[in-house]
Amino acid sequence: MTATAATNGWGKSQLVWSSLIFIIVAHILAIAGIVHIVTDFSWWTLGLGFLWYLFSGLSITAGYHRLFSHKSYEAHALVKLFFLAFGAACAQNTALKWCADHRVHHKFADQDSDPYSVRDGFWWAHIGWVFHKGCERPHVSCSDLEADPLVQWQAKHYIAIALFVAVVIPGALGFFWDDALGAILFAGFTRLVWTWHATFSINSVTHRFGKKTYCKNESGMDSGLVALLTMGEGYHNFHHRFQTDYRNGIKWYHYDPSKWLVFMMSKIGLTRKLVRVPQKVIDNARAEVS
Ligand SMILES: [Zn+2]
Ligand SMILES: [Zn+2]
Repeated sequence: MTATAATNGWGKSQLVWSSLIFIIVAHILAIAGIVHIVTDFSWWTLGLGFLWYLFSGLSITAGYHRLFSHKSYEAHALVKLFFLAFGAACAQNTALKWCADHRVHHKFADQDSDPYSVRDGFWWAHIGWVFHKGCERPHVSCSDLEADPLVQWQAKHYIAIALFVAVVIPGALGFFWDDALGAILFAGFTRLVWTWHATFSINSVTHRFGKKTYCKNESGMDSGLVALLTMGEGYHNFHHRFQTDYRNGIKWYHYDPSKWLVFMMSKIGLTRKLVRVPQKVIDNARAEVS
């Protein structure tokens, strides 16, 4: 590593001011969205915020994560388009970059190259890495995504798509019930910041708190509580052990709306080739740990 190359961790890697300022402004607007909904309540604005939370949250979990990063199932082009549009509205980077970081996270979990390793600290894993340059990542192939024209389309028009879905559409819809500003603030920014912290809690909370049910040698843990906040992504120990499985919560009582969505879509032909690790293999992994 050269003298100028960044490393991971607070104070060691280069601060990206534009990212930090965007994060601060988004949090201020998110708080303004809460104040607005409390002081000038509208069921329509509240409902839109919830709908945008569902659409964008699932686009990260079922889309960016389980479909694009892990290829745990195949999806119709319209489903991909939806996930790419609402995924952009989460301002967590293009699918291409998000997945590249995520593949490195799995391949080098808890090592120096892991971009959001909890070894660099809880808050680093949560949000610090987002506004720092971090160390140069080892190459992990994303040629499958680079060859996908829809993924390339999103990468090319990322900011325009993000603004259109996160700001323009909520504003235009809110106009119909005379609350365009409230819709932008609440469905745009309050929803955005909520989705950020939900996603980030996977990298921080589930790598620090929870249960190691299926593998002991990585820091990812299972947390039903985090699953409630993250569309089912909290079963992170299972996920680190069986990355290609389209499920994260495998028991019937596990809260995993991302799994339910993918499964339901398979029944109407929108998704297919859902990967399920054989139960015997899962049971063996569990027995090894206990
Ligand atoms: Zn992880
Ligand atoms: Zn993953």
